[in-house]
Amino acid sequence: MKITNLNPDSAIGATAWFVELEGHRLLMDAGTHPRVEGRAALPRYDLVKKEELDAIAISHCHHDHVGSLPVAMRYFPNAHVLMTELSYFLVERVLHNSVNVMKRQHEELGLRDYPLYSHDEVDDIAPRFQGFKYNREVDWASFHKTRAGFLSPTLEFYDAGHTLGSAGLMVRGQRETLFYTGDVCFHDQTILRGARFEDIKADVLVMETTRGNRARPSGFTRATETERLSQAIERVLAQKGSVLIPAFALGRTQEILALLALLMGEGKLKPQPIYIGGLGRVFTEIYDLESHRTHRQYPNLQLREALNLTVLEKGQAEKMKLTGGRIFVITAGMLSEHTAAHSLALRMIGDERHAIFFVGYADPDTPGGRLKAAKPGETFILSPTAGKVTRRCEMLDFDLTAHSDRNDLLDFVGEVEPRAVLLSHGEEDSRDWFAEQIHVRHPRIKIIRPKAAEAVEV
Ligand SMILES: [Zn+2]
Ligand SMILES: [Zn+2]
Repeated sequence: MKITNLNPDSAIGATAWFVELEGHRLLMDAGTHPRVEGRAALPRYDLVKKEELDAIAISHCHHDHVGSLPVAMRYFPNAHVLMTELSYFLVERVLHNSVNVMKRQHEELGLRDYPLYSHDEVDDIAPRFQGFKYNREVDWASFHKTRAGFLSPTLEFYDAGHTLGSAGLMVRGQRETLFYTGDVCFHDQTILRGARFEDIKADVLVMETTRGNRARPSGFTRATETERLSQAIERVLAQKGSVLIPAFALGRTQEILALLALLMGEGKLKPQPIYIGGLGRVFTEIYDLESHRTHRQYPNLQLREALNLTVLEKGQAEKMKLTGGRIFVITAGMLSEHTAAHSLALRMIGDERHAIFFVGYADPDTPGGRLKAAKPGETFILSPTAGKVTRRCEMLDFDLTAHSDRNDLLDFVGEVEPRAVLLSHGEEDSRDWFAEQIHVRHPRIKIIRPKAAEAVEV
């Protein structure tokens, strides 16, 4: 089998794997790079543009995995796109939103490459999307007219527990098998339950390594971390300050909303509106609608009924009164410029009554990352538009990750018993850790660290 890493980065970037197995070709994921702008954020589709593709399979609807799907389909206009049925409900919203964001960046930041695709293009490709249940084998190449009837590899989606609809992909050929973890979470989150990657054996394993550079501190549990966040919110509201929780719209937002709903249910938090962004509301609605088809906790918890969710209107973040205690769970986890989260943060940073609580990763070179690094009283440049600010607000970081602990993933490698493992979706030091540990525990497994744009024969 031959696997080409189309990601222009060897770490977390624009995920896209081109797989050739027994004469068939599959593209796994079609992402965009979260920290690069313009055409440079795209996978290297040019490397495989002459190939004929049977299908595109999507692991989940985060941008680093699906953000360039319309571009991929320009190269492979006949390919069907296979995903879980839960992702099927999300994917068009994600792509249309991405067009809106790129259009705004075109205007506000003068990014001339943007948008990389249009609303019409998203509508045009949507009929080629197909959703499947977890744990059903799909004969992927049969979607391809000229190959129908041949003995072809199959595809099966396994629940990855990372976000609504997320999946690991099992590709079974006549002679060989490949398993791709996508982004995976083995522990339960507040809503989603952990991955169901049971009894998986494969010859080749392509896996994420996001948390390879983070040891779980002794005594750390998700429950104690959630409790710490709950107490912090209660404390800030009691002193009439506002709380801003920057969170990505798909997944993290709903996990935090569930936490707030539970706190209100227990009487620990007084009922009050929760301010969210438009996209966060849409995904929350889909979490509610699909609650009984999701492997989750509290299947009867409907976030829109349990909470008074209020979508921030345009310009409201700049004007509304912040004293008196308000809660914002707003998209732009890294506080990117030209977002409501950025405007709110700018108004809150200098006031010690307010608090900004991070619940996810923020790249050091973003406004969120710079705020995370700032000590109380420190003056620093938040962003080019905001300029210098002095941090007086409370700022805390909570580890509510939707990625597996590294030891759980390492155990998984032992269960799968692949002859080769490809390490991806992680920083250099994360992949170093996995390479060392796998080498020690399973010396017979070949460890491959595909570089950007590298093709490997496995
Ligand atoms: Zn993800
Ligand atoms: Zn990812």
